Amino acid sequence: MPKYEDYVQWRRTFHQFPELSEYEYETTKRLKRILESYDIKILDLPLETGLVAEVGQGDDFVAVRTDIDALPIHEQVVHEFTSTNDGVMHACGHDIHMASILGVATGLKEIEQELDGRVRIIFQPAEELGHGAFSITETKAIDGAKAVLGFHNYPSMNINEFAIKSGVLTSAVDRFEYKIQGKGAHAAKPEQGNDPVVALGQLINSVQSIVSRNLSAFDNAVVTIGEVSSGNTWNVIADQAYVQGTVRTFDSKVRERIESRLHAIGKGIETTFDLEVETRYQHLPGAVVNDEQLTQEAIKVAKQLDYDVKLMQEPLTIGEDFAGYSQQYPSVFAFIGSNSKYDLHHPKFDPDERILEKAPQYFITFVQQLLNGETEES
Ligand SMILES: [Zn+2]
Ligand SMILES: [Zn+2]
Repeated sequence: MPKYEDYVQWRRTFHQFPELSEYEYETTKRLKRILESYDIKILDLPLETGLVAEVGQGDDFVAVRTDIDALPIHEQVVHEFTSTNDGVMHACGHDIHMASILGVATGLKEIEQELDGRVRIIFQPAEELGHGAFSITETKAIDGAKAVLGFHNYPSMNINEFAIKSGVLTSAVDRFEYKIQGKGAHAAKPEQGNDPVVALGQLINSVQSIVSRNLSAFDNAVVTIGEVSSGNTWNVIADQAYVQGTVRTFDSKVRERIESRLHAIGKGIETTFDLEVETRYQHLPGAVVNDEQLTQEAIKVAKQLDYDVKLMQEPLTIGEDFAGYSQQYPSVFAFIGSNSKYDLHHPKFDPDERILEKAPQYFITFVQQLLNGETEES
């Protein structure tokens, strides 16, 4: 049975060969090879990348999920297993997640005969794009799950810390875009053109008035413009401008309000400056919502394993496409410390591998208790 050293080795190999969302072909092959070498069944599903494995027997089943994709970031950490895929990096720690959940799969395989039910182990693609969970749920492989369990490593917490919250855990993440079509001209002859840069300036200000002027003091939201572009040089009036950003909300009414204001602002800018504005609003994952009872169970398991359990007071403004499961099945998602000086998505993100000492056991114990009902007596 694989041990901590094997988990570390798996993690390092995944780290060395990261792949972008939806292109996790080699990662999927590597996962298959490892699972098959332990005689673990892989379900026959129409998935381009990612897979679902299964151990156990019986009607009832629970699911455990890891993500498998990396990010378009040039790694700045130097170690023996630095990314060899230039410009791609496991900067969100999904390599750690995969190694942990492989530890869960192999650990559960070892005690398969004792399990009073099945465990479907999800290796999910494209988490960073926000729609990877749907590619799994669309296969119906998780339909009927008694529970879906997941986790994310958390850099600012120590490896012995475990954080969780019942109810809303992360924000809904949406993306918006504006394409402004003006009319280019010589910089010296503005009357012959229709300058999208001026409209752009107004647009930025207007978008930033939504949270301050259209929401109540008791509503929570973030609206961030992350990219703006227009023009190529100093003496030409550009003909186009582009803006994109993100909206983070915890409540569907607030989410709808912001979406409608973003559309209205696009229309208003169009009229005011007499040019064309195309507004696009894309719904990405909703909020992860933790099931109350499963959260209590998770806390119990984490305490049994001597984790320092922290109850979160507020949800996080980050997104997590685990929401795709939590919207459909009773689910619980937790954070386990990975003690990195640099945050997730940072080119110097460098998690402490000792997170692998206990993270797999959290899921193994949890699954046993859910399937074999060993929680009642404690
Ligand atoms: Zn990420
Ligand atoms: Zn992540």
